[in-house]
Amino acid sequence: MKKINVDEHHGICRTVDELGRLGFPKELREHLDIQARDKVEMIAGENYIILKKHQETCVFCMERTEDLIPFREKLLCASCLEELCGLTADNRAQDA
Ligand SMILES: [Zn+2]
Repeated sequence: MKKINVDEHHGICRTVDELGRLGFPKELREHLDIQARDKVEMIAGENYIILKKHQETCVFCMERTEDLIPFREKLLCASCLEELCGLTADNRAQDA
């Protein structure tokens, strides 16, 4: 990972263009391994915005794992899927 040279007090300053776009400096893209078409999350505070590389998480436990399972346009981890399947099996047993 390439070390970035960021002024601790002022960060990196960029100008927003007329369409509201903002360019990421190459050093930051390399530092966070952000490629073209990657998703970036914007988290707004009262007077600041945090930009964070988006990472897919399980819809239930928010766990970040390489093995997320797509289901109805959502992603589940194996642990939550197993738990859901157990709940479903329990419900079927109670209904019988
Ligand atoms: Zn999960």
